Amino acid sequence: MPDASPLLSTAQIKDVVAGLMPVLEAELVGLVGIPSVAVEGFPDEPLFAAHEMIVGLLTDAGVDEVEDLLIPGKTAPVIRACVPGPVGAPTVLLYSHYDVVPADDVELWDSPPFEADKRDGALYGRGTADSKANIIAMIGALRVFGGRPPVTVKFVIEGQEEFGSPFDTYPPEAPELFAADAMIIADVGSVRPGSPTLTVALRGSAQVVVELTTLGTDKHNGLYGGAAPDARLALIRALATLHDESGDVAVEGLLREPWAGSTYTEEEFRTLAEVREGLPLLGSGGIGERIWSGPAITVTGIDAPPVDGAVNAVASSARAVINLRVHPRQPAAQAQAALVRHLQALRPFGLELTVTAGETGDGFAAAQGGPGFDAALSALSQAWDAPAGLMAGGGSIPIVMALDTAVPGAEKLLFGATDGYANIHGPNERVLLDELEKAVVAKAVFFQEYARTFDARTPEADTAEGSK
Ligand SMILES: [Zn+2]
Repeated sequence: MPDASPLLSTAQIKDVVAGLMPVLEAELVGLVGIPSVAVEGFPDEPLFAAHEMIVGLLTDAGVDEVEDLLIPGKTAPVIRACVPGPVGAPTVLLYSHYDVVPADDVELWDSPPFEADKRDGALYGRGTADSKANIIAMIGALRVFGGRPPVTVKFVIEGQEEFGSPFDTYPPEAPELFAADAMIIADVGSVRPGSPTLTVALRGSAQVVVELTTLGTDKHNGLYGGAAPDARLALIRALATLHDESGDVAVEGLLREPWAGSTYTEEEFRTLAEVREGLPLLGSGGIGERIWSGPAITVTGIDAPPVDGAVNAVASSARAVINLRVHPRQPAAQAQAALVRHLQALRPFGLELTVTAGETGDGFAAAQGGPGFDAALSALSQAWDAPAGLMAGGGSIPIVMALDTAVPGAEKLLFGATDGYANIHGPNERVLLDELEKAVVAKAVFFQEYARTFDARTPEADTAEGSK
């Protein structure tokens, strides 16, 4: 069992990280230069190249045991590595992913997406923020301690997060591989630059398809329109019942609560969503309640002829797919059932709808107030010299639920190097180097603070060096 390096003050950690930044930046530039797109139809070679580079970085940072996790089904290799800490030290699992979404909208980028470009203190490129900066931050935190961290560190870095992978549901099948006291899920970031944020909730998601058929075939609307039951009109009428006049969801049985943590101001939200000047937003209540702790219903697809080339006919059938976003603590299936009930009870023009429940994904609500939670808030505040806030994420991260099921006792801590303005999955994705630096500091400070809480609880650990 190796000794941990001696305890460092936060100021010392900041100095060390500042000294590491040129190297970390160069490594991030190298990693972003590898177009590791995991989406089907893209070549596998870049994924393996990114994997290879990360294995090399881990080895350079002093990790002896690096291996690929072999799981059933086809997926990009999942890197598993472990760095033992001092005797009695807690185990912290660090998760992130090295794959990226494609950047097919090259014309919208100000610099080539797969050549990291440094402008105004930021590094632009696909994957800079989601999530290669987070991988670099994890490895940077290990380097702070010369590869001998005050906690046992387990790395789990996968390569197929953006495109459904069998790994999404794997952890509960081999929970011992993921056993940890705390997990840092580094696939997120802060609400905005300068405001360190812990993500404590993720909304769930459910799909519902609604359809109806009213005629044998489409009929000329000059001859039949006015009396023939129009499937498309009936569907539109049904969809219009999902929201009230102000745009709040009008379906019974969906959990909604005020959001108590940090949130975007209305102005910030308008900027981020690129809402056209002078237009109202949907719904009522705080932005956090509308986008995180309340339901949202979006009609994401509807079968209808395009306007150009439309023929004059009454529609014989119509179909729409609805995506429901669910309060983090409401089971997605329960919320889905509420939406199905609402649609089944409708009779637009007296017509019955066929409603089919599709996929669901439960949301996530982190346990708060444990030693990991406290240490994370403290570390974030120290790294940024600003009080840390709590926020939720709009998108679901399936692996969080799988890890939570596999190791329910481990505190899940979601924070990272990026921020709400990073434009992940969009053109000109970027990470601010200053935020990356602070994220490295936060992880290193977290390791020490978290180790200390275990020292206090485990008297035997006093024998381990560096635990005073
Ligand atoms: Zn991601």
